[in-house]
Amino acid sequence: MSIPDPPDHAPGAEIARQVRARGIDDPRVLDVLARISRARFLPPAERSHALDDRAVPIGLEQTISQPYVVAVMTQELALRGPERVLEIGTGSGYQTAVLSFMAAEVFTIERLTILSLRARSILDGLCRTNIHYRIGDGTLGWPEEAPFDRILVTAGAPGFPATLFEQLDEKGILIAPLGEEDAQELTLIRKVHGFPIQRVLMPCRFVKLIGEEGWSEG
Ligand code: SAH
Repeated sequence: MSIPDPPDHAPGAEIARQVRARGIDDPRVLDVLARISRARFLPPAERSHALDDRAVPIGLEQTISQPYVVAVMTQELALRGPERVLEIGTGSGYQTAVLSFMAAEVFTIERLTILSLRARSILDGLCRTNIHYRIGDGTLGWPEEAPFDRILVTAGAPGFPATLFEQLDEKGILIAPLGEEDAQELTLIRKVHGFPIQRVLMPCRFVKLIGEEGWSEG
């Protein structure tokens, strides 16, 4: 199937073109990326880097994820519309925006208050009304709202995210970067008859997941 290019004037058209050139071929993912301005999620001083295909600083030693990695994670989540998604690491809110266009409800947790509030104000400005925000340690999940159809962790975890896996529904998909502090493997975990079936998607480098089932601070 040939995929039409998004319209040139779409705010994220250039990002969509870039990730498509790198092999992303899900038309829904490309369409959503084309609709969203990545610049809007960056602090003013970093906006000139909005189209760089790399992680960019957003303050407090955190980063907005690389567009290609956002696209891979989103494509692999295989969202069809009715899903309830848990995201750990709201950060800039860019990935949250992408998820909110592709799933019914997004529950997003960020440990740093300032980042959560900043992301929320940007996402409110985009009229995203299907996002629920929590400030706290996302490694413990959101038990009151479990189970989730999909869970996306956007910070690097040192090992298997056991509590999050418990909060994943049967046949659900969890994606998380697992490994060392400075290098991880983006890992897809499916829940099949209650058991985790794992597949490595690609090598990656995310900031640390800090919390009870993550790294300790410092
Ligand atoms: N998806 C974000 C990525 C942000 S970087 C984006 O595209 O902008 C990862 C984020 O995870 C950081 O903001 C960091 O503060 C947050 N984080 C780290 N450990 C966390 C935890 N235990 N719970 C919730 N958020 C966490």
